[in-house]
Amino acid sequence: MIDPETRLALVHAAIAKASKRAGRPTDATTLIAVSKTKTVEEISPLIAAGQRDFGENRVQEAQSKWPALIAVTPDIRLHLVGQLQSNKAEDAVALFDVIHSVDRASLVNALGKAQDKVGRRPSCFLQVNIGDEDQKGGCAIADIAPLLSRSGAVGLNIIGLMTVPPADIEPAPYFALLGKLARDHGLDQLSMGMSGDYETAIMLGATHIRVGTALFGGRG
Ligand SMILES: *Cc1c(COP(=O)(O)O)cnc(C)c1O
Repeated sequence: MIDPETRLALVHAAIAKASKRAGRPTDATTLIAVSKTKTVEEISPLIAAGQRDFGENRVQEAQSKWPALIAVTPDIRLHLVGQLQSNKAEDAVALFDVIHSVDRASLVNALGKAQDKVGRRPSCFLQVNIGDEDQKGGCAIADIAPLLSRSGAVGLNIIGLMTVPPADIEPAPYFALLGKLARDHGLDQLSMGMSGDYETAIMLGATHIRVGTALFGGRG
């Protein structure tokens, strides 16, 4: 068993190496430790080692784990990386600093309302279904412009694009496409890259990588 501090150091080293090869500063990429299914006991050593950005994919699970941890370490930033139901928008706005899974007009509207009610304004990514897969979350490429315009109308702060590329094929073309789509729409943040492909994502301009397994081990 490799301990969590060692895993974190190995991921930091890989980020530094990929950044150097890409000619980008190491701190241009935010490492989000995706802690879904992991317990407070498994998460705490990473906080102690200095990790501050964490990702969860379910609002309810995050509510059960994070408020107590954030009370002790207030500079933790919490990222929602999983699909969000509109009826959970208020809870999400109240807890998360960044929401990576905005992908439809009904959710944009719900988040806009939730922000006004809760009095918080998380940064958001539009999630794009880059491989046009039936089962996947994310909007169609053609929906990016209308969703950005709707977001502007309700005051949602969209800072970039997020994607999960199709499994088991080379992700680089999809990462490159997401970068082009972001530039075309005047957005400069890219949430892309997971344990298996974050170095490739960094080469192609990722500003946020979402890493679970490489930091915490498998999810059983
Ligand atoms: C679980 C998850 C991750 C982390 O995946 P790993 O392969 O364990 O690094 C990243 N992004 C999203 C959207 C996820 O659901």
